[in-house]
Amino acid sequence: AVRVRFAPSPTGFLHLGGLRTALYNYIFAKKYQGSFILRLEDTDQTRLVPGAAENIEDMLEWAGIPPDESPRRGGPAGPYQQSQRLELYAQATEALLKTGAAYPCFCSPQRLELLKKEALRNHQTPRYDNRCRNMSQEQVAQKLAKDPKPAIRFRLEQVAPAFQDLVYGWNRHEVASVEGDPVIMKSDGFPTYHLACVVDDHHMGISHVLRGSEWLVSTAKHLLLYQALGWQPPHFAHLPLLLNRDGSKLSKRQGDIFLEHFAADGFLPDSLLDIITNCGSGFAENQMGRTLPELIAQFNLTQVTCHSALLDLEKLPEFNRLHLQRLVSNESQRRQLVGKLQVLVEEAFGSQLQNRDVLNPVYVERILLLRQGHICRLQDLVSPVYSYLWTRPAVGRAQLDAISEKVDVIAKRVLGLLERSGMSLTQDMLNGELKKLSEGLEGTKYSNVMKLLRVALSGQQQGPPVAEMMLALGPKEVRERIQKVVS
Ligand code: GLU
Repeated sequence: AVRVRFAPSPTGFLHLGGLRTALYNYIFAKKYQGSFILRLEDTDQTRLVPGAAENIEDMLEWAGIPPDESPRRGGPAGPYQQSQRLELYAQATEALLKTGAAYPCFCSPQRLELLKKEALRNHQTPRYDNRCRNMSQEQVAQKLAKDPKPAIRFRLEQVAPAFQDLVYGWNRHEVASVEGDPVIMKSDGFPTYHLACVVDDHHMGISHVLRGSEWLVSTAKHLLLYQALGWQPPHFAHLPLLLNRDGSKLSKRQGDIFLEHFAADGFLPDSLLDIITNCGSGFAENQMGRTLPELIAQFNLTQVTCHSALLDLEKLPEFNRLHLQRLVSNESQRRQLVGKLQVLVEEAFGSQLQNRDVLNPVYVERILLLRQGHICRLQDLVSPVYSYLWTRPAVGRAQLDAISEKVDVIAKRVLGLLERSGMSLTQDMLNGELKKLSEGLEGTKYSNVMKLLRVALSGQQQGPPVAEMMLALGPKEVRERIQKVVS
């Protein structure tokens, strides 16, 4: 069975890069009726960020890609936090020590620091010189007497195994000569990433490891660990990096790439999933507007390429508009949006609402239907340009007189029009009738009349067509606003 995992370290809140890794795992799991597991890699206790663990799980749920097994949900392979699995890492370390695949390292932090400095001074990559690798049993026993909790290192074979990555193809990385033997267990009883990851992927029955390409080189180490422990490794598929459009690192330029920021700004989860899968990896073609079920249906791991995916966040509002329109067209989704918009209006204008009828779902729904193609986010409907929909604008007569000398005449014509319509307006009727408002007015053109009405109705010089404004506000409200400007 397919079992995949997303294994972030709770050293920060969930951001777009993490979301993408999680999403590909989720999609892969669902495509093959498998399980998607969330595992928190919290073994580096010094780097934990309070709230990050909760945030990661909250945001996966918000995004609509909840894990099947996780710290919160539990599951048959738990616990799902590495800090609660120390016993398993200790067992694996014991087994490796027994066969000689691992050895205790008594080098002091000062010595290791010196090695590092020296390498850097010579412009070399810091490398552990494997000093403790070949100590005799007596030497070890002697040292253990003084230092009973040494770090444990893994003896790296000189020849790393070649492996076939499902994205990058055949790979071989001679890690041994580059870094020296890595620490797998620290003296405080916490494992390092490499050991913990291998032990967990094994015990959790992970079938495929889909993770960021920054881990591609480490895979050689992991395979050597699998070999030394006598375990069957999973399949590996490394995902190319997600970068800004200009190729810079996502975190470097976009200050706020955290999911909670997008959520608070009113972006829909679907539009985030859509935009991060529209950078050319895993799908036959880019195509805006895909939903999660469509992503699952169309995803193909063999179409993930080695090229970095370039994300153009400036397009996010467009993606959101598309997904918002899709939701509006669905009746039950639309009802939910109406509810959300009511809350937004209440939050934005609460105490200023002279007329609480604007919170009526029929009115709110009408606004949503009329403006859906013009807004990117639901929030846009409570921005200042749309405040006239919810509160009456303060319009001074002088402001109107500056547009035309015929304010009263025009206002009366509008009131007459409303009367004749039997207080029910339609687009067709308005299209014809509004044109007639400027008939016979010396010096006041049609465009002035429209400008005048727009200001009278909304307090704004610019905005949607007047006919649409009138349809949105409804005849009663239009009459009130127009009556107010007649002297
Ligand atoms: N904890 C690692 C990270 O934060 C996980 C790498 C992996 O998936 O093996 O990216």
